[in-house]
Amino acid sequence: MLEPRAEASVVATRTEAQPVGHAGEIRGLVNPETDVVGIDEAQFLDEEILSVVQWLANRNVRVIVAGTDLDFRGRPFGAMGDLMASAEVVDKLHAICTQCGDLATRNQRLIDGEPAPAESPIIHVGGAETYEARCRRCHEVPAGSRHQTELDIEMEADAWAERTRYW
Ligand SMILES: [Zn+2]
Repeated sequence: MLEPRAEASVVATRTEAQPVGHAGEIRGLVNPETDVVGIDEAQFLDEEILSVVQWLANRNVRVIVAGTDLDFRGRPFGAMGDLMASAEVVDKLHAICTQCGDLATRNQRLIDGEPAPAESPIIHVGGAETYEARCRRCHEVPAGSRHQTELDIEMEADAWAERTRYW
């Protein structure tokens, strides 16, 4: 006698990811047969992503959104906070802190090996910075920096030049 065998079948449709510059472009990429939409790096998308995912979910499309919830300063990254609040299910994944081995919940930005100051731009394109997974206790975001002071002095000099032009 043959044992009944468990069988599973999977129907999968493989498709290429479509890069988008603005969240609104996603609306034009779905059609009435679309069942699932996966959105990666959602922290970089504009605020319209909130209405786009609601629009998709209301059309019975399963929407899976992935992204980094906190920026390097430890503040909500883009629309991620609102996306997480409006989602039915949220899974927070954690890395391991590179300093102490605890659960890492933060991204430590390092510039030339040193913690990046709070004033540095949230999205740093093409820079020489690196990132490390860190826990809350090991995460460092120094306020104020030499760079900021130099910028302040430069701005004051510009303002002075502006004023002198009208005096
Ligand atoms: Zn740590």
